Amino acid sequence: MDEFALIREFFSQHEAADSVATGVGDDCAVLLPPLGQGLLCSVDTVVAGRHFPAEARPELVASRALRTALSDLAAMGAEPLWFTLALTMPHVDVPWLELFSKGLYAVAESYGVKLVGGDTTKGPLCISVQVMGATPTGKALLRSGANVGDQLFVTGSLGDSVGGLQCLLGKLKTDEQSAHQLKKAYWKPEPRLSLGQQLRDKASACIDVSDGLLADLEHICKASGVCAVVDSARIPLSAALLASVPTRQALEWALTGGDDYQLCFTVSGDEAEKLKQAARNRLIDVSCIGEIIAGEGIIEASSRSPFQFKKAGFNHF
Ligand code: ADP
Ligand code: MG
Repeated sequence: MDEFALIREFFSQHEAADSVATGVGDDCAVLLPPLGQGLLCSVDTVVAGRHFPAEARPELVASRALRTALSDLAAMGAEPLWFTLALTMPHVDVPWLELFSKGLYAVAESYGVKLVGGDTTKGPLCISVQVMGATPTGKALLRSGANVGDQLFVTGSLGDSVGGLQCLLGKLKTDEQSAHQLKKAYWKPEPRLSLGQQLRDKASACIDVSDGLLADLEHICKASGVCAVVDSARIPLSAALLASVPTRQALEWALTGGDDYQLCFTVSGDEAEKLKQAARNRLIDVSCIGEIIAGEGIIEASSRSPFQFKKAGFNHF
């Protein structure tokens, strides 16, 4: 199977649509962004053996690559519209491609994004997904808007994905149900797209937690010129994680582990109180974990000093 047959067979399922005048097949895709909206784009690359186990099931690899890329759109409050795929692989493995393509389109379908182009090359297995989306002009959620007095929130629970990876690597043994849930957090993180969109008029700053809460929150603090006070006791930890490792370990993973793809955001005044109330009534899946004060960096609420965990976040170099 040559390159063009491969593209036709596995990556040409999305026909022209309202937002796509020309999709896969020409030199460029021709896209029709919603009138008067800002266009947001972001690209993420995953390398076999570095970001995921090389022998992993192809549908999971595809699912995770697209989900994690979409998380960046969620963090900005964007509506997802399109994506492109740059696929590098060592040889044409038709059964692998079938499963990969199926997994990719299933996730694309569930979030309403269209595959509109890409690139296909030979080399060590590597996948780049570029996502594009839109927000009303001026409404994108930035890292730089946090203000003194804002309350600090996160969605979902943190640390599960690291637990899942440890399970996959055979380094963590736990009960079957917990292992299933943790591995699901690793392979199928939920990009918090609708929540991100709901936050457009509420949050002052937002980021997705891809490198660990402390590392990502630090980006908000730097961009906004503020200090974050984080209460360890209020970090959301799942029952599955707490059933699998000691609380101290769960907390360390939640703070430094990464790959959670939850949102971390700041909200001011009345809006923050409303959000806390909705969270108490379990109407929204968020937790208030601290507040923003004047200063820089991140401190722990009880000790009023920096966290003692050695290495925060993932840094390639
Ligand atoms: P060019 O040489 O003009 O860059 P290519 O031969 O790389 O074009 O690709 C042909 C068409 O197929 C283009 O429309 C491109 O966007 C699309 N395409 C290539 N690889 C992929 C892929 N992995 N997934 C989706 N579309 C792809
Ligand atoms: Mg090309």
